[in-house]
Amino acid sequence: MENNPQINHSASETMTENTNKYIMPSYGRFPLEIESGKNCITSGGQIDFGAGIGTNSLGFCDVDWVNAVCEQVKTLQHTSNLYYTKPASEFAEKLCNITGYINMFMANSGAEANECAIKLARKYSYDKYGKDRHKIITLEGSFHGRTLATLSATGQPPMHDFFFPFVEGFQYIAPNSITDLEKALSTGDVCAIMLEYIQGEGGINPLNTEFVNTVYEIAQIKDILVIADEVQTGAGRTGKFLAGEHFGSKRADITTMAKGLFGGLPAGVCLANEKCSNVLTAGTHGSTYGGNPVAMAGGKVVLNKVSSSEFLTEVNQKGDYIRKELSGLPEVVSIDGKGLMLGLTLKSKCASDIVKTALDKGLLVLTAKEKLRLLPPLTISYKELNQGLSLLKEILSQ
Ligand SMILES: *Cc1c(COP(=O)(O)O)cnc(C)c1O
Repeated sequence: MENNPQINHSASETMTENTNKYIMPSYGRFPLEIESGKNCITSGGQIDFGAGIGTNSLGFCDVDWVNAVCEQVKTLQHTSNLYYTKPASEFAEKLCNITGYINMFMANSGAEANECAIKLARKYSYDKYGKDRHKIITLEGSFHGRTLATLSATGQPPMHDFFFPFVEGFQYIAPNSITDLEKALSTGDVCAIMLEYIQGEGGINPLNTEFVNTVYEIAQIKDILVIADEVQTGAGRTGKFLAGEHFGSKRADITTMAKGLFGGLPAGVCLANEKCSNVLTAGTHGSTYGGNPVAMAGGKVVLNKVSSSEFLTEVNQKGDYIRKELSGLPEVVSIDGKGLMLGLTLKSKCASDIVKTALDKGLLVLTAKEKLRLLPPLTISYKELNQGLSLLKEILSQ
């Protein structure tokens, strides 16, 4: 392990050993322990351009968020969904007001929000058309989660090893291919199309607005539901509250959100429009922890902050600033994405090597396939941005 004098880039040996001994090795971890943090800076002095993979939308330990969460945990931590609680009802009302959706199911994560969307779409179709109209079209390069159904929905063949048999009824088409779409729909057994407006894990790949519009047109004619997976793109990440707002005026029948929506607490939601709002009737779906009051108290603070137009304007400005600062570098071929969800295509360097070098220098960044992915907290200050950008420029110029 390397030790930089300014940067506490280390993890205690006992802690590392214990982690590797007692936690399954399904993650390759970097040799860094994060003990605490403030907005964009860790206790070890690292600048955080990853925000816990986009979850810490308000950075580390935002004061209002901490206060709301602590107040709630001291008052009532959980009840199950057998009873009513104020935090869930207030959060749900606010999120429906912001997005225009009618109602939502409350889950614990992005994958579970998507599980709900998949079940909802299939039941919608079953209720209306009967059996055998259950297929869901998803896009190549997509990522929808790690549960069996959401993994089946994920259009990345390398993830489809080992875990057979997968959940049936998913078909992948090439993103932006209207020909593929029409072909896939010709069988008449499709109930939904599921998409990320900007693929996150798949490599920060935005869809064409033309393709999105065509999806909506065809879906409307054939009564096929559109499911927007906004688990990564939602809650202001792209400079709009929902990324779909960048892609025309149509809104998905179902939108799922998680990651940044709760500021770092594990929860997710599946939002439904009028058509889909009464499909999951009592007993058809559930989640013991769904709507957890502590997560909802945190989520309310996130909603209050990130839904304002001034906040979203700033997210866009910060994104533009990053683009301006980095786009001139010889190593940067192009920058994809929107707002503070950015993917850099590099000329000769390998993004995963850059992540390691960056860590040594005190900067936390991510990859998305071959791209270097930046998902800083939405609350990042220009001072923090400049610190991180000057490290990144140095690393990319080496
Ligand atoms: C992260 C992610 C998921 C899965 O969310 P989890 O909370 O890890 O289950 C699903 N869809 C997209 C687009 C994601 O980025």
